[in-house]
Amino acid sequence: MTSIRWGLAGASDIAATRMIPAMRRLGHEVTAVGSGTADWAASYASANGIAASGSVEEVVSRDDIDAVYISSTNEHHRAHTELAAAAGKHVLCEKPLALSASDAETMLAACAAAGVILGTNHHLPGSGTHRIIRELVSSGAVGRVLAVRVFHAVKLPERLTGWRIASRTGGGVALDITCHDASVINALLGALPVDVVALATKQGTWAAAADDALMSTMRYADGALVQTHDAFTVAYAPTALHVIGSDGAIMANDVMTQDPIGTVALRDARGEREVEVEDRRDLYEISLDGFAAAIAGVTEAPVVTGTDGYRAAQVALAVREASETGARVTP
Ligand code: NDP
Repeated sequence: MTSIRWGLAGASDIAATRMIPAMRRLGHEVTAVGSGTADWAASYASANGIAASGSVEEVVSRDDIDAVYISSTNEHHRAHTELAAAAGKHVLCEKPLALSASDAETMLAACAAAGVILGTNHHLPGSGTHRIIRELVSSGAVGRVLAVRVFHAVKLPERLTGWRIASRTGGGVALDITCHDASVINALLGALPVDVVALATKQGTWAAAADDALMSTMRYADGALVQTHDAFTVAYAPTALHVIGSDGAIMANDVMTQDPIGTVALRDARGEREVEVEDRRDLYEISLDGFAAAIAGVTEAPVVTGTDGYRAAQVALAVREASETGARVTP
């Protein structure tokens, strides 16, 4: 598989804890890191064994990088994508891809005009468990899908309790977690909801500006209903994805996580049995591998495209709007 020379836009936790290690395991190079704060970029580079650092502008325009991984805070995703595309670099951008439909459309247009690939780093749709769940649904194993229940209420680690709870614009549980649910549900149902309703609240012990717990309900044109429980405040509940159909149900437990874990069970008239999940590769390696394959022309597109990221953000933004206004919102 193609080895990519990466420039990082954003000296972030997710890059340090997941993406840089995954890039190196795959034989990719992490060439330079760009940040809005020069001192932070330099100390981050030194802590993570990256030879060069500078501003995002300096990093994306380097000749010795092929692609830019954007993990700056969400307010910067659009500007950093535009900079990278203008410099002719492929872009793998973190979720939520953008904070508005017009920002997402600008990013897609900038990458298309530059002839570069835009992928979104949603880690769940490509995972072994989620691919099996989609295969079961598309093969008719559960019949017509009547409902999907997503349990994605987790405990935010102390080190991540910054902008996620302090920023009403770029933070909050809808953009952080419901957005991941949407990347999964959109791929599963192949459509966006017709309308969504939601209630959100602040449950944490912290002084939050943004909501940290939320439940949403979504309705689809074919009559399917989706329910999500997303939170930063829940320490001991397992995550899960349940797909309930006319002829059976898929109970996938512990699958809304960053690690390649979880089980998939199918229940139908024959009883309940576990479905084997063969692919237990690291979820971020799957995302990076898919991105490299798209750059090399081996596949047509990354695992989660820019358009997929846009659609997931659309649903998350609609859920946030519904929770803030009490209105029924169409994404
Ligand atoms: P962090 O809070 O760790 O970092 C975000 C930005 O904050 C950095 O890029 C940096 O800004 C700034 N920053 C952080 N620490 C410091 C510091 N000590 N001094 C100065 N600036 C600092 O973000 P996360 O890693 O939690 O999230 C980054 C992105 O990744 C978000 O878009 C998030 O939604 C996404 N994400 C995706 C996940 C996934 O599984 N796909 C999981 C977690 C996050 P600068 O840009 O200027 O360097």
